[in-house]
Amino acid sequence: MPNMSLEKVKMPEQEADVRNKNFKEVALGYTLEQAQEEATRCLNCRHKPCMNGCPVGVPIPEFIQHVAEGDIEAAYQTIKRENALPAICGRVCPQENQCEGKCVRAIKGEAVGIGRLERFVADYHMALNKEEKVEIEKNHHKVAIVGSGPAGITCAGELAKRGYDVTVFEALHETGGVLVYGIPEFRLPKALVAKEVDNVKKLGVHVETNVIVGRSITIDELKEEGYEAIFVGSGAGLPRFMGISGENLNGVYAANEFLTRVNLMKAYQFPDHPTPVKISEKVAVIGGGNVAMDAARTAKRLGAKEVYIVYRRGEEELPARKEEIHHAKEEGIIFKLLNNPIAIHGEDGWVKSMECVEMTLGEPDASGRRRPVEKEGSEFLLEVGTVIEAIGQSPNPLIRQTTPGLETQKWGGIIVEEETMATSKDGVYAGGDVVTGAATVILAMGAGKNAAKAIDEALNKQ
Ligand SMILES: Cc1cc2nc3c(=O)[nH]c(=O)nc-3n(C[C@H](O)[C@H](O)[C@H](O)COP(=O)(O)OP(=O)(O)OC[C@H]3O[C@@H](n4cnc5c(N)ncnc54)[C@H](O)[C@@H]3O)c2cc1C
Repeated sequence: MPNMSLEKVKMPEQEADVRNKNFKEVALGYTLEQAQEEATRCLNCRHKPCMNGCPVGVPIPEFIQHVAEGDIEAAYQTIKRENALPAICGRVCPQENQCEGKCVRAIKGEAVGIGRLERFVADYHMALNKEEKVEIEKNHHKVAIVGSGPAGITCAGELAKRGYDVTVFEALHETGGVLVYGIPEFRLPKALVAKEVDNVKKLGVHVETNVIVGRSITIDELKEEGYEAIFVGSGAGLPRFMGISGENLNGVYAANEFLTRVNLMKAYQFPDHPTPVKISEKVAVIGGGNVAMDAARTAKRLGAKEVYIVYRRGEEELPARKEEIHHAKEEGIIFKLLNNPIAIHGEDGWVKSMECVEMTLGEPDASGRRRPVEKEGSEFLLEVGTVIEAIGQSPNPLIRQTTPGLETQKWGGIIVEEETMATSKDGVYAGGDVVTGAATVILAMGAGKNAAKAIDEALNKQ
């Protein structure tokens, strides 16, 4: 008999007023008993709607069945067939819009906690520290991957499994892309990302860090070096700015820069490590997505007393995951919704305040969301010493500027064929944020997987 409880088994987490002062992981994960109890909520539906919501096609009911039976290794192997990074996806995937969004149990009550179970299975397996033997017959075709984010790493792993000689070129000194330099330690521990990337390296993938493709070496030069196919998964790391006055003052950060400093320069070890980020007592974060939530919660952990999320639309329109909004509120982040910044004011070169205007919501715009409209005469000053802008990112222009024949959208995204991820340039494929603009980990992984399949088909034909 399935467990007909309408609610997910609760996952233990750190108390809000404890965790907002440290960088340790917020959610603590299920025990075996909790995981098995949650697994018995799955109805094992014949038509498997949850799988339609998973961009990489994880056999969800099958792995959950193994969890219910207590065979966690079988559950892990089932997930791993389709997903190279389960410990990561279990933590950061927006399951509510994907697998869990399609779960029959969500019609009346809460969906099965698919993400929590995936995380449990991956962590359980990792804790066993099993040496995994992989024997792959090499096919002697060389493929280059640009970028070691989820798109690049997934594509690399899929090709290595098929026998390709794969080299990943990464601009930074660390592998993992946004998983390492963007998403904070308290949501996604870096040691865990390193372990998942290591699993891909064990398939024989070679990684070269500190190589900026387009500067250290171009795509055409990679081809000359004998790489028969190249997959570009260079992400969308170029921050957008509001274009308001005062953005050049000291104390204004792009969220990307702020989070990179914290993540890669070890400010997340604060207070045991001197932080390289200067933060004031009052901080404003502009934006309402996951990046804004991460920046706000990070600022709080670095010691800011008051942290505001300033967003021009309302609660309903906040694009961040519901869970992250909930966590941010619990941790004391103050939401200033229907407010839009119009100028940043300074004193002696440093931010002193941010001028905002109140908004109301008008008719829906092209995106279907109601357009924010300024309320006349409602300007006010928010006294803050730090402003972090989290209003979106686009692809860095370096690769398109140095790759003749590579067609891109006006905003910089590389244009690809939908199924094969092939670009306009022969032998060059692309996927992830560099194609879609800032999106999600699992979509980037799905693109990497599709490209690997297409590269395999193309090179096998030769
Ligand atoms: C703060 C933050 C929080 C997020 N939270 C979530 C979340 O909770 N859930 C979710 O699903 N998604 C989240 N996202 C989005 C998600 O992380 C991205 O969609 C995903 O990482 C995109 O993967 P990618 O492989 O395309 O690019 P990236 O992860 O950006 O990786 C690209 C890699 O390419 C490298 N690179 C760039 N240019 C070059 C070059 N010229 N030569 C060599 N290497 C290069 C970069 O250094 C980087 O390592 C978040 C993003 C941010 C910034």
